[in-house]
Amino acid sequence: MSLVQLSQAAKRYNIGLPSETEVLHGVSLQLRRGEFAALVGPSGSGKSTLLNILGLLERMTSGSYRLQGEEVGRMNDDELTLQRRRALGFVFQFHHLLPAFDALENVTLPALAAEGRVSAAVRERARELLAAVGLAAAMGKRPGQLSGGMQQRVAIARALVLQPALVLADEPTGNLDTASSDEVFALLRRIHAERGTAFLVVSHDMRLAARCDRLIELVDGRIARDEAVAPGGARP
Ligand code: ADP
Ligand code: ADP
Repeated sequence: MSLVQLSQAAKRYNIGLPSETEVLHGVSLQLRRGEFAALVGPSGSGKSTLLNILGLLERMTSGSYRLQGEEVGRMNDDELTLQRRRALGFVFQFHHLLPAFDALENVTLPALAAEGRVSAAVRERARELLAAVGLAAAMGKRPGQLSGGMQQRVAIARALVLQPALVLADEPTGNLDTASSDEVFALLRRIHAERGTAFLVVSHDMRLAARCDRLIELVDGRIARDEAVAPGGARP
C-alpha cells in the first residue's frame, strides 16, 4: 500500500467566474513509506497548491487521493482534520511558533489541539525530540530567545510529536542562511534515517533538492520530471 496515491488531481480556482483557472492539471503521484523526496519548480507552478492538497488543507477539484489506503476525497472536514493529525506533520518556511510559550510547550501543542491535553507520554516524546534536534538545553526557552535555525528545529520537533507517517515541508530552510540551512536539512535527513518518516520537501534550493532521494518537478501545474537522484547528489 502506498503512503500517498494521488491520481489525476486537478485544481481549479474561481470556478464559474470569468477568472476561473486550472492550476493543477491531472497530477498523479505516488509516495512510498519512508521516502525522502524534493518537490521543485518555478514560482506559480503549483507546488504550494499540491502540498496543501496532500496535506488535507485544501480540497482538489477532481481526482482521487488515497492516503495510507483511504480515499480522502469523500471525507468530511472533521474526518480530514482527524486524518491530518493522525498521518501528517507540517514544517513551513516561517515556523509559526507561539511566542509566549517555551520550546517544550510549542512542541506539545499539536497534542493539545488534537487531544485537548498533553499526556505524560507526549511530554516525554517532546523532550526526546527536542534532545534529538539538539535542543536539550533550550526546552524552557521561548522562540524569541532562540536563533532562526533553532526555532526551525523546534518546529521540526513539533511536526514529529504525533509521529506522522509523512512530513510536508514547504521551504523549510527558505528563511535561513546557508550554514543554518545545511544544518536543518541534515537534521531532516537524520530523522528520516533514524525514524523512517517520509518527507516531501518543497525547495527553491537545488543544492538541497539534489540531496534528496527523489526529485519531482512541477511546471505549469504538471509533473515535468520525477526521477531518482543518484547517491551523492545529482545535477540540478
Ligand atoms: P507555487 O507554490 O509553485 O509558487 P502556487 O501553488 O502557489 O504555486 O500557485 C499556482 C497558481 O495558482 C498560481 O498561478 C497562483 O496564482 C494560483 N493560485 C494559488 N492560490 C490561488 C487562489 N486561492 N485563487 C486563485 N488562484 C490561486
Ligand atoms: P488545529 O490542529 O490547531 O486545528 P489545523 O487542523 O487547522 O490545526 O491544521 C493542522 C496543521 O496544519 C497544524 O499543524 C497547523 O499549524 C497547520 N496549518 C493549517 N493551516 C495552515 C496555514 N494556512 N498555514 C500554516 N500552517 C497551517
